[in-house]
Amino acid sequence: MSHSQVDVVIAGGGLAGLAAAKSLVDAGLSVQLLEKRPILGGKVSAWKDADGDWIESGLHVFFGAYEEIFVLMRELGIYHHVLWKEHVLTYTLNQGERFEFRTLPLPTPLHLLPAVFQNHYFSLGEKLTLAKALVPILFGSEKYYAEQDKITYQDWHRKVGIADRMLSKMFLPMTLALKFLAPHEIAGRIVLDVAGLFLRQDRASRMGFLRGSPMDYLVGPLADYVRQKGGQIETGAAVKEVLLNDDDSIAGLEMADGRIVRGKDYLFALPIHKLNQLVPDRWRAKYPVFAHLKQFEGVPVITVQVWLDRQVTGIDNILFCPDGVIPVYADMGNTTPDYHYDGKSRMQFVMAPARDYMGWDDEAIVAKVWSDVQRVFPETTRDARIVKSSVVKIPQSVYWPKPGLDHLRPTQATPIANLFLAGGYTQQRFYDSMEGAVSSGRRAARALLASHMARATARHEESQTIALTHPQTA
Ligand SMILES: Cc1cc2nc3c(=O)[nH]c(=O)nc-3n(C[C@H](O)[C@H](O)[C@H](O)COP(=O)(O)OP(=O)(O)OC[C@H]3O[C@@H](n4cnc5c(N)ncnc54)[C@H](O)[C@@H]3O)c2cc1C
Repeated sequence: MSHSQVDVVIAGGGLAGLAAAKSLVDAGLSVQLLEKRPILGGKVSAWKDADGDWIESGLHVFFGAYEEIFVLMRELGIYHHVLWKEHVLTYTLNQGERFEFRTLPLPTPLHLLPAVFQNHYFSLGEKLTLAKALVPILFGSEKYYAEQDKITYQDWHRKVGIADRMLSKMFLPMTLALKFLAPHEIAGRIVLDVAGLFLRQDRASRMGFLRGSPMDYLVGPLADYVRQKGGQIETGAAVKEVLLNDDDSIAGLEMADGRIVRGKDYLFALPIHKLNQLVPDRWRAKYPVFAHLKQFEGVPVITVQVWLDRQVTGIDNILFCPDGVIPVYADMGNTTPDYHYDGKSRMQFVMAPARDYMGWDDEAIVAKVWSDVQRVFPETTRDARIVKSSVVKIPQSVYWPKPGLDHLRPTQATPIANLFLAGGYTQQRFYDSMEGAVSSGRRAARALLASHMARATARHEESQTIALTHPQTA
């Protein structure tokens, strides 16, 4: 039973909560982080099966465009564990068909043009429709981008006249990889934001994998650092209810085990559906920002891993597939040195859209994924056998960037004096990604520190005033 009052109580031990904890302990504040699950890392968490193999929550890659997560990893001395792959996007299709976009070292945005024009899969006419659409992406004003948040990516794609075959073969796996959503379910803006970033920075779209498990090379070192700096981290600690003071500020958190945890400030780094469960009705009734949160929800996704008795692909990079249910995947036996598996394939797949498969049993899910793999690699899978497999279902994963939602994303500072928010759904440029989580955590910590300083200054000025008014008390 702990009744001590720390400076900050953080709810949620994913990347956002841990990044916030790091910034706060670095600033000298005392921190208590509460994580519901027995392990840290949230959507980047991983755990070992009975054979000692890592089961990952999801296939994670780093983009060259990321910034704050790399600052954090450099500070922790773990950046060198990101292994950058060749700057090429490989699409794998039925019957073994392939196409790729290979980036050349030219000044932006020219670096992507050869990638588009050297591609042999699309016709010149189709490629010209895409080239024309690059103009609004590159030169569109903030107002133009904001307008595109009101429509779906599919509507934008058709409005600017890009070929429909590019929607189904190129952009479908992209939006499914990005947010596990099809082009007709996702706001145009997020796709334009990502495409704009890739066009403006030559290395933004290159991708890197961790050397091994995210627990060994990211989450673990981050949590160790926080602990070494005096931060308390509790797992198996679920927040059940938010207790309020009369002025609507937080008085404490009631935990699932019945105890009350109190701090001076609170930072919630929770998935949006969990935050929505905890938001008190009083806040929702009084403050529009909390009422708007009701419109946010998570996207379902399934991660499937298969260990094979032979090598199916030698490709050491991310792979896309527009045909079927595995829009993005990788052979971790090639990409991830710690997962090397006697030269055999150990593949990890994002299964999306996953809504229709959430009720399926694991065996049926693996069979469905395997039938796609067999169509994409007809030669090498002919006699291949699955040695073992794992299935991880996340009913509400990243937040769903629906059309019209972007302007309702909350800032990290809230109308509640002692509450700060972090997570992909809060305002920052990288949406719900590892970079978005870290960036939101660091922003939330900065907002909290600013308020902490302002209160300290106010207290100091008040004591000065009292000293001047009553010199005998000084
Ligand atoms: C399949 C998949 C693939 C992905 N691929 C990529 C990728 O390639 N690149 C990339 O950049 N990003 C990727 N992402 C996104 C990335 O994982 C997330 O954006 C990021 O990890 C979110 O971190 P977070 O801390 O905001 O949230 P979370 O990781 O969800 O952390 C929130 C934490 O809060 C805890 N919690 C919930 N309720 C309570 C409670 N009541 N009390 C206490 N704790 C609670 C949860 O258990 C969780 O640990 C992927 C996500 C998934 C699911």
